[in-house]
Amino acid sequence: MGTGLHIEGLNKVFRSGRRETIALQAAHLHTEQGTFLSLLGPSGCGKSTILRILAGLEDPTSGTTRVDGHSPKELRKAGKLGIAFQDAALLPWRSVQANIQLPFEVAGAPVDRDYVAEMIDLVGLKGFEKAKPAQLSGGMRQRVSIARSLIMKPEVLLFDEPFGALDDMTRQRLNLELLRIWSSKPATTLLVTHGISEAIFLSDKVAVMSPRPGRIKAVMDIDLPRPRTPEMMRSPEFHAYVDEASDLLFGSDGPTDDDF
Ligand code: ADP
Ligand code: MG
Repeated sequence: MGTGLHIEGLNKVFRSGRRETIALQAAHLHTEQGTFLSLLGPSGCGKSTILRILAGLEDPTSGTTRVDGHSPKELRKAGKLGIAFQDAALLPWRSVQANIQLPFEVAGAPVDRDYVAEMIDLVGLKGFEKAKPAQLSGGMRQRVSIARSLIMKPEVLLFDEPFGALDDMTRQRLNLELLRIWSSKPATTLLVTHGISEAIFLSDKVAVMSPRPGRIKAVMDIDLPRPRTPEMMRSPEFHAYVDEASDLLFGSDGPTDDDF
């Protein structure tokens, strides 16, 4: 088994009472180590389910996932995983600094204070070290969450719409910051998003999903040079990728029937 992300024949059925939801059906996905992949798809198509299975938070009904040869449980145990969700999920009684250094404490490792300070600086929170989450804006809380996900220098990053609840301006700024940090040490990354431009701007590959049952419909290679700059979003190449992704999402074969 090589490096990178490998999802093979992944199925997930949720059962509650007599109701069955096929969240994923035979999902396949493969990337190389250090690839930034985004997962695009309509709400309810199974994006978070894929991410939660990769993170070991949910078991698949069948199929396998491996990241750099490791099962989700091995990844978590080895501390190689960085995760951030839409809801920043910070501990409210802990300061910015204490939230960011939490992964060291969970791993029973000595806190690398210099690196914590460097990361706080990198995400633009210098001066807010002692602030509590309730004193921060939504964008600042997400920065704390991103810093915390990166603090153990993880080889694998799983992001589930980390900027989904933010306004466009804040979101664009944080995307640029994320890219800058990611570029200095490219981790194998899976970003769930419903932003088409955002997915193309950030990624090496964009996987487009279809709903009910959730499948990987197509994987686009994004052949734009790095470092990416905001000006690239105005180029014809960029617009062509946006059109292609939109067609895959909404186009040709039209919306599918609901599951009745
Ligand atoms: P997405 O992240 O793409 O919006 P999800 O992966 O969250 O989609 O959900 C995929 C499908 O599985 C949806 O129909 C959702 O209602 C269902 N689902 C997700 N989690 C559960 C659960 N714990 N129990 C029952 N159904 C679930
Ligand atoms: Mg989701």
